[in-house]
Amino acid sequence: MKIGVLGIQGDIQEHLRMIERLGHEVIWVKRPEQLEKISGLIMPGGESTTMIKLMKRFEVWEPLYQMLQNGFPVYGTCAGLVLLAYEIENYPDQDSLKALPVRVERNGYGRQVDSFEVELEIPAIGANSFNAVFIRAPIIVDWDKSVEVLSIYKNAPVLVRYGNILASSFHPELTDDVRIHRYFIDEVIKE
Ligand code: GLN
Repeated sequence: MKIGVLGIQGDIQEHLRMIERLGHEVIWVKRPEQLEKISGLIMPGGESTTMIKLMKRFEVWEPLYQMLQNGFPVYGTCAGLVLLAYEIENYPDQDSLKALPVRVERNGYGRQVDSFEVELEIPAIGANSFNAVFIRAPIIVDWDKSVEVLSIYKNAPVLVRYGNILASSFHPELTDDVRIHRYFIDEVIKE
């Protein structure tokens, strides 16, 4: 199975390394035709506004939008979550792929200096304590009840699943813990 990492902007290498560690072939996705070769895609953290611009310029925005509607598996971390959300509260004009029925507040946990780490409980992956790194992370301020909440921090979901979509406001790729990536491949993609 080949897994793609959207390789346009953000912390791409860290995700590539996680997939390789799990023993899967990984493709650094920059062009629309590469989307046809993969079973699922990871959208890394970075700067969502820049990512939108470049995804449109590289012509991956529109095909990915269509694929998401048809059930293609995507895991978005941090900026990747912002790109998937139905609504962005404090930037209402910002475009999104509108695949995940949540409303997010960009940078809701504060600025770069307010970055932090917490230990999360994530029963779906058997984790009593998962080290989660938040960097200028979005807060999920509202969500449809059909969204499966896999982990909560201070009353807000921080890891969610919605059918073919997995999204986290934090960055598991910045730790050594591959369990969320494994969950994406074994549970979300293979279902
Ligand atoms: N603040 C960024 C954005 O909204 C996301 C930050 C990140 O991905 N670490 O695009």
